[in-house]
This record gives sequence, C-alpha cells and structure tokens, in this order.
Amino acid sequence: MCKKENWNTKRQKTHRFEYLKRIILPAGIIVGLAALAVWFVISLPSLPEDQIISRQGMHWHSELKIFINGEEHQIPEGIGLSAVHNPIHTHDDSGVLHLEFTGLVAKNDIKLDKFFKAWQRDFNANCIFNYCNGPQGKVKMSVNGSENNEFENYIMKDKDKIEIKYESETQ
Ligand SMILES: [Zn+2]
Ligand SMILES: [Zn+2]
Repeated sequence: MCKKENWNTKRQKTHRFEYLKRIILPAGIIVGLAALAVWFVISLPSLPEDQIISRQGMHWHSELKIFINGEEHQIPEGIGLSAVHNPIHTHDDSGVLHLEFTGLVAKNDIKLDKFFKAWQRDFNANCIFNYCNGPQGKVKMSVNGSENNEFENYIMKDKDKIEIKYESETQ
C-alpha cells in the first residue's frame, strides 16, 4: 500500500512536470513573442496625420528672448550651424530662430526643446540655464504676450514671439 502511494506521488510529480513542459512553456513563449510583435509595431516610426506640420519642408521664424533677473541674455549667432547642421538655428544674435526644414516636418521636430538641445543649454519648467525654481526666482514663459506653461514642449509657430524669464516672484 505504502509503496503504491509513493509510486502515485512520483507519477503525479512527473505529470506536473510534463504539464509544465507541454503547456506552460510554449504558452509563455507565444505570449512573449506576441508582446515582442506588439512592441515592434508600436516602435515603428508611424506618424499620425495630426502630428505632421508639413510634407514639403518649410522655413519659419520664431523670435526668442531670454531675460535673467531683468537682464536680456543674448542668444549667439550660429547656434545649430556647426559640425551638425540643425534645422533649427540662428544666423545672427537678434534672437530670431530659423526653422528651415526639407521634406517631412513633425510637431516633435519644432519643439522649443530642439533649439535648446542644439544650443546645449538647459530649459524646462524648472530651469533656464543654471537658474532653477527656488527662493531666488522662478522660470516663466510667454508666447505672443500670453503666459505659456508648455515650456520646452512648446511647439513653435511661424512669427512667434517667445519670452523666457527668470525672476523672483516679487518682481
Ligand atoms: Zn538658415
Ligand atoms: Zn530664415
């Protein structure tokens, strides 16, 4: 009797192992492959229509001014025109950003962030350059005279006048 029970338990264990090998493992592999396929499709560079600004290039100009504690910080000429020619660049130090593109232009390509990346300077809701929100001051932004809270994610438009200010709240 006792011997038989032992044999049964052993058989059950073998059965469980077989179940694992034949059902769970292949199922796991299938789920894994499906997840991989979904990830692949999502990561393909498909561009929804509402994300497209132009299909035949463009040449826009946005004006950017930066004030740190009331003092204008000049934006140098030739930003984005060094080794790598950036579609967003400056030709002079007037603060005019040239958005010169050929072919397909997506909203993502003309975020204000793209200019700061080309300039290799920090700009976001918290900091402009090394000036960050705190007791000393706060980063503020306006576009064509109205306050804007999109900061680096702002999608520029032709003839925009963008102002970034860092100043204390009392100013
Ligand atoms: Zn240019
Ligand atoms: Zn231009």
